[in-house]
Amino acid sequence: MLTLKCGNWILEGKSSSAVATYIRVKQLDLIFDLGRCPMRFIGTNHVFISHFHLDHYFGLPIYISQRWLAGMPPGNVYVPSSGFKQIKQILDRISALDTGRSWGYQINPVAAGDSIPFRQNLIAHILPGNHSVPAVSYLICEVRNKLKPEYRHLSGKELVALKDSDVEITNEVQLPLVAYLGDTRGIAIDAHPLLRKCKLLICECTFLTPEHRERAKRTKHLHIDMLPKLLEQLESEHIVLNHFSRRYTPEFIREEVYKRLPTSEHPRVHLFI
Ligand SMILES: [Zn+2]
Ligand SMILES: [Zn+2]
Repeated sequence: MLTLKCGNWILEGKSSSAVATYIRVKQLDLIFDLGRCPMRFIGTNHVFISHFHLDHYFGLPIYISQRWLAGMPPGNVYVPSSGFKQIKQILDRISALDTGRSWGYQINPVAAGDSIPFRQNLIAHILPGNHSVPAVSYLICEVRNKLKPEYRHLSGKELVALKDSDVEITNEVQLPLVAYLGDTRGIAIDAHPLLRKCKLLICECTFLTPEHRERAKRTKHLHIDMLPKLLEQLESEHIVLNHFSRRYTPEFIREEVYKRLPTSEHPRVHLFI
């Protein structure tokens, strides 16, 4: 399993096109996609699935059954609404085959435009994907209460008094933390005003060579040639590229990516390989 450190963020998992993609951000208690499920992921409470290609959700039965076996409460699994019914049928059949009983899991359908609060102070915005099957991307924001400007000059005592008299002294603000695109042919940059400001963006980059341009287009994936223009629009401190084709070796990926991206982008681009 791979561990990648980007500033304060630690990403764990694996991502190889058509093989398996699963990425955990432990600090946020969440996993993006679950193409396989390592045992150390079982205790993570939130799973966001981008689409129903097998390499992105094959680990779900393991995640669900292991929690059930361990007597843990079911994790919160979020899936694109288009495959919601089918995945439930599949899980019910597997659990019936496995135990003769239901595992008692929690799966939530999501669609672009939804906003889902989770944990105490996080919210997942669901953004449209652009792939060969229905897909979504995720933008995770932290919700904070910020003191309204008109009250900033007041002392702690005065603020408490106002609060006690039921005056709303704070505004809710959202801090964009991490975005995960899943498999996609583009970045829906205008789908959410905070996307371009997210601190860390996990972006697929399946294809690298000129002869794979056509394949990228046909299978609805990003090609490295498309990235410079897309990255220009993003203010992210860290860009993590994942989901490279298994045709390429890690050495080749490293060489090609940095050769094809402008040098100004190099410091913030990390490879999940
Ligand atoms: Zn994939
Ligand atoms: Zn896919």
